Amino acid sequence: MRTEEPRTVRLTDYRPPDWLIDTVELDFSLDAAATKVRAKLQLKPNSTGTPAPLVLDGDDLKLVSLALDGQPLPAASFVATPDKLTIAQPPHRPFQLEIETVVDPAANSKLMGLYKAGATYCTQCEAEGFRRITYFLDRPDVMAVYTTRIEAETSEAPILLANGNLVAQGEVPGTTRHFAVWHDPFKKPCYLFALVGGKLARVADSFTTMSGRQVALHIYVEPGKEERALYAMDSLKRAMRWDEEAFGREYDLDIFMIVAVSAFNMGAMENKGLNIFNDKYVLASAATATDADFAHIEAVIAHEYFHNWTGDRITCRDWFQLCLKEGLTVFRDQEFSADQRSRAVERIGDVRTLRSHQFVEDAGPLAHPVRPALYHEINNFYTTTVYDKGGEVVRMIKALLGPALFRQGMDLYFTRHDGEAATVEQFVQCFADVSRSDFSQFMRWYTQAGTPEVAVTTHYDADAKTYRLDIAQSVPPTPGQPTKQPMVIPLALGLVGKNGDLPLALRDRPLERGIVELTQPNQSFVFTGVAERPIPSLNRGFSAPIKLKLPIEAGDLRFLAAQDSDPFNRWQAVQSLAMSLLTANVATLRRGGTPREDAGLMDALAAILADARLEPAFVALVLTPPSEADIAREIGHEVDPDAVFTARRSLRAATGARLGAALGETHERMRTSAPYQPDAQSAGRRALQNVCLDLLAATRADEAIGRADAQYESADNMTDRMAALETLSQHDRPERARALEDFYRRYAGDPLIIDKWLALQAAIPEPATLERVRALTAHPAFSMANPNRVRSLIGSFALVNHTQFNRVDGAGYEFVADLMLALDSKNPQVAARIMGAFRSWRALEPLRRERAAATLRRVASVPTISRDLHDIVARTLADN
Ligand SMILES: [Zn+2]
Repeated sequence: MRTEEPRTVRLTDYRPPDWLIDTVELDFSLDAAATKVRAKLQLKPNSTGTPAPLVLDGDDLKLVSLALDGQPLPAASFVATPDKLTIAQPPHRPFQLEIETVVDPAANSKLMGLYKAGATYCTQCEAEGFRRITYFLDRPDVMAVYTTRIEAETSEAPILLANGNLVAQGEVPGTTRHFAVWHDPFKKPCYLFALVGGKLARVADSFTTMSGRQVALHIYVEPGKEERALYAMDSLKRAMRWDEEAFGREYDLDIFMIVAVSAFNMGAMENKGLNIFNDKYVLASAATATDADFAHIEAVIAHEYFHNWTGDRITCRDWFQLCLKEGLTVFRDQEFSADQRSRAVERIGDVRTLRSHQFVEDAGPLAHPVRPALYHEINNFYTTTVYDKGGEVVRMIKALLGPALFRQGMDLYFTRHDGEAATVEQFVQCFADVSRSDFSQFMRWYTQAGTPEVAVTTHYDADAKTYRLDIAQSVPPTPGQPTKQPMVIPLALGLVGKNGDLPLALRDRPLERGIVELTQPNQSFVFTGVAERPIPSLNRGFSAPIKLKLPIEAGDLRFLAAQDSDPFNRWQAVQSLAMSLLTANVATLRRGGTPREDAGLMDALAAILADARLEPAFVALVLTPPSEADIAREIGHEVDPDAVFTARRSLRAATGARLGAALGETHERMRTSAPYQPDAQSAGRRALQNVCLDLLAATRADEAIGRADAQYESADNMTDRMAALETLSQHDRPERARALEDFYRRYAGDPLIIDKWLALQAAIPEPATLERVRALTAHPAFSMANPNRVRSLIGSFALVNHTQFNRVDGAGYEFVADLMLALDSKNPQVAARIMGAFRSWRALEPLRRERAAATLRRVASVPTISRDLHDIVARTLADN
């Protein structure tokens, strides 16, 4: 017997709730093993239709008492099980239901509902965690006004927080306990409910909104870590200002709070007025965090804050609409980061992530549309497709309409749907209305899975001075979707001549914003007045999340790398040169040959490295070859991860050897004696410095290893120390062992830093790594009960270390599967997430494919696995 029943939830089965809840009064009496929860729900029938039974959701609940309009309900008139409370014949009129339950936060290892993260009580209710606190209509279209009273031992939890504004607090007379009452005037779904109780230190600041209201800003962290929350506070204030300027959105409560907790299943949660964060996305200082950590903190703080309007004020009607809040908010946080930092660098970074994760998901058995049509377990749909491709879809709406109309559409969305639980259709309709255009074909971006392929051929007619693009689009089959309809694709482009961009005119009509709109399977575009044979620069800025197939000569790519006015496509041109070399070398290696070098690619890299006008962060990205995941996806089938790794390593070594002098000089020039600053420019210098270091060390020259060793020792910030350690970790030499030991000694008391140490060792591309990781699972710094530790060690091994997870003997698969089976009974969400590492198994060469399938079948056959894990494994194995 499976502990949880399999279930299938379909979008087409949606119907409005029979009952609504106007107000919720909650009263918590916090206790580690037995917290009492009293809930008073003001219910009313949703329509005047036939009376419906009242069925409230539960999960692992114990009912203590139940009363209707103040009268205890006779046992015969209801049925309470751990996962359901049914009143077959409730009165067909508004009434009050009082429910008392008791929950055990200390034993809650799923980290859903109310649980203890170390000494801190906290909650996580999205998607379906509120039903682990009390019986409720746990669906996002039931929105209510909440008042929350929390009571606790003053010594155990001096800080008591919930959503909204603080309305009362005090001692409980005659006891050692105290209480606080919070009221949230904004209607919200229960997944946005939050509560925190504990011994926490507060960092306080304030923000004056555009209409002049004062908002108190409080960030709560473990005592002693206050200094490490200052960057998060600064990011929050910048995000609040940006949302006013870019979207006209003002904050609405008197207080905004962020709490950092050490045990959290995800990144962070946008609970109304009380965001709860994985502490890795709050805590940072020069000595403890890398530039990437700072950038992530800025982005995640902004993301959760932006949800106040896109998620909280306007929420989702049902969980199929998850991208309505997530895709849109990812788009908003990407735009924020682009405005705070370098737009080109941010865009390239976002696209690298998209290709290495979302494109890979879209090409495998877990592919699903941005808005799925069915699910078995919603926890498994917090995916890169919903988030990142969902963000790309919003970006395309902006590309199609232009910034002014896009803003009008967003404004209309905010006014039309404020306080509602909305759908993707309602969101898109706002843009259709302001632009008076038809978005019905565009909706396929929400319903069709798979990465569209766009094949382009070009024809220049020197006599007629015309240039023609013949473009064919197709979307590959994905699970459950064998055939696809053509998409609406905004393709931004330029025609680059000897002296820069040529004017763009289609039949003598200027091309608006440089974008052609693809809508048909096959289309031709004829540009007129083209005075010379141009080089096409297509999908500029990555205007659409597509795979572009354009036969283009290496010489033309080198020209674009040097001359394209679109920085994204300058970077892309070098990536394309590198990708064709890498895929050719993978094939050569598999035949037993030796990888070749590409002098043209080296020339392009050398030119960019020598160009002092370019931002260092951009140069660093150009020098970074495509990721192993990206190369494997490009090859697509019969993938041998060892050959992929070797091809990539040999390109890095060749770059280090050919450009050694320039790399060494740049490594020196980018270093600075100025005190550490986390800003984008300083981070860009360090990024370039550290890419140079890594390429130099790829040659395995003693001088280069010595350089990394020296940087490790002398670094005055975590970015440089970590980068040096990462470089050393790739080389099996005594310097590595020494540095790893030293790193542990320095930072043993700091779990977030030790996570980096665990992740780094798990990613070492050597056969001995499996034994190293196995040994680290017994290390005192590791714990299966903490998601950050598990993700750092096991997640890094499974998702980052392509050669060792995909060991040809299958031991990597077996190791990860065994651990995830052990974790599953305690924390199924995290176990299912890490098992997603198997998602590309069908693209592997036959030996590994067979081993991966055998492991997956073994996991699937365990009768007691959770719904989360079963869903992932079953879909990964499915044939369609
Ligand atoms: Zn989000």
